Amino acid sequence: MEKVIKLSQIKKAAQEAYDETKSLTGGKNANYIPYLANIDSNLFGLSVTLLDGTCINLGDTEYKFGIESVSKVPTAILAMIQHTPKGVLEKIGADATGLPFNSIFALLLENDHPSTPLVNAGAISACSMVAPQGDSKDKWTAIVNNITELCGSAPQLIDELYMSETATNFNNHAIAWLLKNYNRIYDDVDMSLDLYTRQCSLGITSSQLAIMGATIANKGLNPVTKLQIFDEEIAPKITSMIASVGFYQHTGDWLFTSGIPAKTGVGGGVMGVMPGLFGIAAFAPPLDDAGNSVKAQAAIKAFMNKLELGIFKGDTVKIIND
Ligand code: GLN
Repeated sequence: MEKVIKLSQIKKAAQEAYDETKSLTGGKNANYIPYLANIDSNLFGLSVTLLDGTCINLGDTEYKFGIESVSKVPTAILAMIQHTPKGVLEKIGADATGLPFNSIFALLLENDHPSTPLVNAGAISACSMVAPQGDSKDKWTAIVNNITELCGSAPQLIDELYMSETATNFNNHAIAWLLKNYNRIYDDVDMSLDLYTRQCSLGITSSQLAIMGATIANKGLNPVTKLQIFDEEIAPKITSMIASVGFYQHTGDWLFTSGIPAKTGVGGGVMGVMPGLFGIAAFAPPLDDAGNSVKAQAAIKAFMNKLELGIFKGDTVKIIND
């Protein structure tokens, strides 16, 4: 079916989705990272970026929260830019785990394979793949520059969050050393884990994440800066990874009910990619049992359902200005 949506309808759907989900309660801040436990749980923002560069921002969309696991997406893209999608598939994989993000069991079950760069094991592995090998400073610059290009503006390290995570990431140490044991770490172990921890501690806004989502939805061309950030062929690859594991053990339920591939982080952010149409992001700290923001999920779902959109619907959708 050919479906035409007006810009005013999109703005209205975003406003209604925001208003209806604003007072939702439920969930609680991540408490295994001390810094995150203390963030104001009433913060809430919803951002949509269309492929013509139009940005819709409602609520706390300029608040810099911890990007956390949403950072796995840009670094997977960077690994694909530097090593091709095939290289990442061979070295890490592109499978769903169906298990929590920090699962050691997943690593053992998958026969030594990290599965996907969008869970902790694969993300640490992806950080180890980032060039130039052996140079922590230049690797970090490459990771940050890539995020900056995808968002069109720079993220900012939250030092307190970085220290908080570094002091408590024992589980991730275990994952990193298991990866080393299985030859799935392609640089120094401690350096790779540190880069992963640092990228998770970057402060980002929902407006920046919506632009990143839109850049992916737009085949690598940032719709705000108009710069081509990555090769077209990477867009369907990263979107398939997001679709298959973006919500960890709740990914199927999420896709079934929302119709949009999206990636979450325990900082409360969710970034969605609607190929050919828009990027969307929401942020609210309280999380469900899988570490996914309760309110951000509700807001994005409400937006999708109001516009009757979904990647599996098979509609050709056109957005027009009115
Ligand atoms: N830094 C967090 C961790 O490694 C990220 C987890 C997440 O956002 N799901 O535990």
